Amino acid sequence: MATTVETLIDLQEVDGRIRELEAEEKDLPRKKAMEKARLSGAASDLESAKAALDYARGKADEFEKESLELQEKIRQLKTVQAGLKTNREYQQYAMQIENVERDREAADNSQVAALDQVPSAEKRLAEAQARYDEENGAIEAFCAEIDERMAAVSAELAEQRAERVVRAAAVDDPQFKQYYERIKLKRWPAVVQLTHDGVCDGCHLVQPPSVGQLVNANSRNGQEGKRQRVVACTMCGRILYGEA
Ligand SMILES: [Zn+2]
Repeated sequence: MATTVETLIDLQEVDGRIRELEAEEKDLPRKKAMEKARLSGAASDLESAKAALDYARGKADEFEKESLELQEKIRQLKTVQAGLKTNREYQQYAMQIENVERDREAADNSQVAALDQVPSAEKRLAEAQARYDEENGAIEAFCAEIDERMAAVSAELAEQRAERVVRAAAVDDPQFKQYYERIKLKRWPAVVQLTHDGVCDGCHLVQPPSVGQLVNANSRNGQEGKRQRVVACTMCGRILYGEA
């Protein structure tokens, strides 16, 4: 027949697994968030590459529009000029047209310069997009793995918690059970061996001989099916049991 402390060790075993799983359950979303944050660098590069291309194209369009407007202005000036009577007026218009033509030429040059920027901006965008896609693909695969692990952890937790109910019911002494539930919140593991040197295996403090005697009495009483008492470390309060 198992001693009371042995049933407690069985309970502690399942509690240990539950603790691990709960810690992992808590940690997995953090890992996922960190992985996603890695992508933000590539995402902002992609955004700025898009903005640079839009800017270059926008500038080219702007100068094209300006050039067309100036072309229209020249056409109008020439129409008026054709109907002029005096040579002086005609000369004035000719000068004005020349000025507008210079402006139009400048706009055309600016348009060409802006268009020159477009291919390199397109190249930069394509590169940024490729890098983003690559990183995003890797991150999505990693996140899918995390989701899979999360599901496995949840499933195992449910199993272990069900097992815990069974094992907790097997601890037949309420005093042991209560003491264990309380101490495990502060000390882990809560049930440890008293080594043959009389040392608590949790905090490594040498125990007085009386503790060793109580532990031995528990082993004897357990074998004989008699009631046992909680024996705790005088320093850390962990429940102690003897070597087998
Ligand atoms: Zn101790």
